[in-house]
Amino acid sequence: MRIALYDPISVHTASYQRTRPSLALLGIAHEAQKAKAEVLVVEESRTTHRRALDAIRSFHPDVIGISTYFDPACMLLVKDVIREFNRIAKIALGGHDVSSRPKEAAALYQPNFMFLNEGEMAFAHMVAAGFNLTRVDPQLVEIREINGVPVIISKIPYPLDSYPLPTEFPPTFPEDKRYDEAAINIARGCIGGCTFCGGAKKPLSYMTPARVLEHIRAWLSLENNNIDLMAPDFTSRAPLASEIIRELNRHPEAGGLKYFFSVRLDSLDRALDLAPEEWTAFFRQNEVTIEAGYETGIARRLSREHLGKSEDAEKHLASLIRLLQTGVKVAVDLISFDPDSTFAETAQDYTVLLGLARKYTNMTIYPEALFRELKIFPGTRAAQIFGTKDYRSRPFKDRKLRLLLDTLIGHRDFFGISPHRSLTSSLERIVAIIYFLQKRGDRATVNMIDSFIAHLEENPGQVSSHLPQ
Ligand code: SF4
Repeated sequence: MRIALYDPISVHTASYQRTRPSLALLGIAHEAQKAKAEVLVVEESRTTHRRALDAIRSFHPDVIGISTYFDPACMLLVKDVIREFNRIAKIALGGHDVSSRPKEAAALYQPNFMFLNEGEMAFAHMVAAGFNLTRVDPQLVEIREINGVPVIISKIPYPLDSYPLPTEFPPTFPEDKRYDEAAINIARGCIGGCTFCGGAKKPLSYMTPARVLEHIRAWLSLENNNIDLMAPDFTSRAPLASEIIRELNRHPEAGGLKYFFSVRLDSLDRALDLAPEEWTAFFRQNEVTIEAGYETGIARRLSREHLGKSEDAEKHLASLIRLLQTGVKVAVDLISFDPDSTFAETAQDYTVLLGLARKYTNMTIYPEALFRELKIFPGTRAAQIFGTKDYRSRPFKDRKLRLLLDTLIGHRDFFGISPHRSLTSSLERIVAIIYFLQKRGDRATVNMIDSFIAHLEENPGQVSSHLPQ
């Protein structure tokens, strides 16, 4: 049996525009190989869509497995692949979009099979059964039907230690396995429950520390020392995450590297409490960047009914400051704009962030997060709270907030993060326009705003004189 596995995430649809291996599919491909299939993983991120389609076509697959994602651009790519091949191959879908809203995904994509939640073991079992539903073992998988599409759910968890080393990756297209980042699928699942996210459907599991080290050694043998310890929330189990850090500290070859991982601030706090010396040593020995899901410092917005991040805004801010004080590079993730926020709340957030950026030069914000509007992903609680039936954002309640967002987006080059300007400078410009809108009240017109920005563009040195004292 020949199986092509297609990953629609490209550097254009991913948040960070860096190439990483298709972690969602390489484990599945590896298990399918063990079940005697011939496989090819097609990575949109490292090629053009046309070449990806050509690669699938010339592989002559019997089955095309596709990882879905809730990004609209990914949905279009997935639909295009299905349209191109559904008459000559069986289409099997898994991933975020399918797992978080199976009924709608069945109607939208009309595949032959869908896999819910973790795909590795269920997919391998279907390969062994020749994708014949009468031959599946009910001890290993559960079969349901949703909108006429058979849905396969694994009864066996996938041990992350089985994840292939980069030196064992199944064949990929393009063949050349140079990635910007050496991503290691170090943990799955999360304790989050953030209302804006649909990505927490997998059971919580971790790779063992010894296996993490094996992955790092394998990546180093491929001359990649840019290590992404990839997990929705690396410290969701503080003891296990701390064990991994301890193991890396014990082995000199895992030191002196660049590390990146994402955390919730509350879970990182627990990990720092648990093994402070280990974390300090790790931060000292390596060049570490941590993406911290801060989102906002406003208590009402952080609450369960809103972003679902935290019930304690003071502690949330204190956790961010504690992380900044470690000296590692902290990439703050923000969601400053949503339909229910107010201008005053967003103004407060940016003022606090400006204070932090002035004090902690290790703080950064990803360019696209600096003035991010909440994205409504299908299948999330945020879609019910903030969205319309077709997953668009409801109109903003506060018109002045909309005006602020449109102003920032309309003058992205002036307000946005640039390699030639510090974060403080961008935040000062944002706070200056906020203060200008505050002072003008409802009298602010687009012309007035544009001429104020033109004045600042001509006299950037005067920005600080337009900040609240
Ligand atoms: S945003 Fe991160 S921490 Fe929150 S639910 Fe999603 S994966 Fe979990």
